[in-house]
Amino acid sequence: MKNILPSPLQYKKNKLTFDGIALDKIAQKHATPFYLYSKKTLDFYYKSFYSNALKHGIPEPLVCYAVKANGNLEILKRLKTLGSGADVVSVGELKKALKAGITPDKIVFSGVAKSEAEIRYALKCGKTGIYSFNVESIEELELINQIAKQEKKKARVAFRLNPQVNAKTHKHISTGNKTHKFGLLKSDISEALSVKEFWTHTNLVGLSIHIGSQLTDMKATVAAIKELSNLALTIDHPLEFLDVGGGLGIDYTDEERTKLASIDYYMKIVSDALQQFYYSKVDNCPRIVFEPGRILVGKMGVLVSRVVRTKTSDNCHFTIIDAGMNDLIRPALYEAHHEVLPETKSSKMITTDIVGPICETSDCFGSKRKLPSMKTGDLLVIDNAGAYGHTMASRYNEREIASEVLL
Ligand SMILES: *Cc1c(COP(=O)(O)O)cnc(C)c1O
Repeated sequence: MKNILPSPLQYKKNKLTFDGIALDKIAQKHATPFYLYSKKTLDFYYKSFYSNALKHGIPEPLVCYAVKANGNLEILKRLKTLGSGADVVSVGELKKALKAGITPDKIVFSGVAKSEAEIRYALKCGKTGIYSFNVESIEELELINQIAKQEKKKARVAFRLNPQVNAKTHKHISTGNKTHKFGLLKSDISEALSVKEFWTHTNLVGLSIHIGSQLTDMKATVAAIKELSNLALTIDHPLEFLDVGGGLGIDYTDEERTKLASIDYYMKIVSDALQQFYYSKVDNCPRIVFEPGRILVGKMGVLVSRVVRTKTSDNCHFTIIDAGMNDLIRPALYEAHHEVLPETKSSKMITTDIVGPICETSDCFGSKRKLPSMKTGDLLVIDNAGAYGHTMASRYNEREIASEVLL
């Protein structure tokens, strides 16, 4: 299976289409700004991810989609139908995953701040509770054990290892070093294993890592899997699974397209690293859990907006649109790049800043971009907005949350 699918956005006779349908036709039915998602693209990425795991001989892959990337219920239902589980970071996400029909035995719970109520809920869902609590501190382990005792249950837990590697991504989305709040150091995990009181109502069933998001450098991934394998080999405890986390990046720019690891290459890297550092040294192979978010949903979505007006200040030109940083915060938060496409292509271009209505200077989707000169009501589309778009939306400036349309 090929790893690259043409974008759902394509120009036909200089007019933008989405999954083959004229964009202005879609936009007639929905107030802008709105998110537009392609089910076809979603299906493609899930199937590609799963089939490449199989192709590279990964044992019993369990794909736990990271709900925080896009929590749209229809999307969760579709992923469930395709066989996906879920990686959740709050009881809200857990409830949504369950509502979409994802069974507890396919759900892992990550996050440094799981509360007593959240742990109790996750422990009590289904017959045996969730597949795994990915534990991020010793204090959390103690609390899970205590709650499981009260509920007369055995909690399934995995340690999230902080592998102390440097994932070369934006500093706000790097998570695998000891200065980050995530995960436990190897020495602390080894120590916790010898404390009998922690394990009266918990079972250690796995180990996990997640070193960051929008990863492009596979060296850090290999280094992290090496650390994970070393830990698995030293603790001498039977494990049902190893969870290699998520983080595979997508191409937001042409430059990234040439640099980025494909799903195929990523699976090869993961498989080779596991073979080298772990499977070649043991008899039994635990299953492998993945927690992909962005790679599954990033490319299926766009944010559709309309031009409110344009403005010129001396030699600066602004295209002011009705979508703002409250709808899509990635540029303001991570200095992230998103391509911005006009509905009607033209060979006559101007240089302009695309800005939103929010009273913040960082409410800018791109500066010094080449775009046709646009007028009030014209459609403008922000590409690759399926991941960390709608889920991060806020009501800042008392704005409505943008609606979502799934094709
Ligand atoms: C956010 C997150 C993911 C998903 O990251 P992507 O970069 O979207 O693949 C996976 N696991 C954990 C623990 C996360 O916090």
